[in-house]
Amino acid sequence: MRVVFLGAPGVGKGTQAEQAATRLAIARISTGDLLRAGVAAKLPLGLEAKRYMDRGELVPDNVVIGLVDNKIGSPECRKGFILDGFPRTVPQADSLSDILRKRRWALDRVIHFVIPREAVVTRLTGRRSCPHCAAVYHLDYRPPKREGRCDACGAALAQRSDDTKDTVESRLAVYEAQTAPLIDYYRKADVLADLDGMGSVEDVRARLFALLPGV
Ligand code: AMP
Repeated sequence: MRVVFLGAPGVGKGTQAEQAATRLAIARISTGDLLRAGVAAKLPLGLEAKRYMDRGELVPDNVVIGLVDNKIGSPECRKGFILDGFPRTVPQADSLSDILRKRRWALDRVIHFVIPREAVVTRLTGRRSCPHCAAVYHLDYRPPKREGRCDACGAALAQRSDDTKDTVESRLAVYEAQTAPLIDYYRKADVLADLDGMGSVEDVRARLFALLPGV
């Protein structure tokens, strides 16, 4: 299965992608996580990307397209994958088509996560994540068992530098201008399914699975 999760930052794509990929035994490709790993490892690509990420802007298309092309070609993606946070622009979507076409693969579905704007701001500003294993929590909706510590690996939780109120506003504006046009792009291609992203993680997961082909 090859699927794209599309939606504004904070709609729950990452949480659902993590769980669905495990359950379906396919890969999760999060361009945000790949870029943050590049930042943590102080790779030249990561350091270049950080300048954009800290401002809530998109990293240049050629950088993320290269990352995704590379990852899709790796053995872990052979059985399928969920793309979480890619594509985010029309040129990225066009490149994804090319990347899939050269492997004679098709995109099975694009899941469009929908939640109201106010809920996005609350979700992002309360989000905390583990810098060590990338597990994600929320101060109110998904608190860790021990305050400030990751349930999975015990590391100290941190707020992403781009989850502050001002940067969240910029990221939402960028989403509207550059990523939202992909809703029509994929609707026209007849692969888009809208998913109500409100409610508990379990409720959303149940609705998500009903939309995935062959699950
Ligand atoms: P995310 O973890 O998906 O919210 O991504 C965090 C940040 O990484 C974004 O605000 C962008 O700066 C950058 N980023 C992630 N994915 C992409 C992408 N597909 N295109 C451009 N920039 C991206």
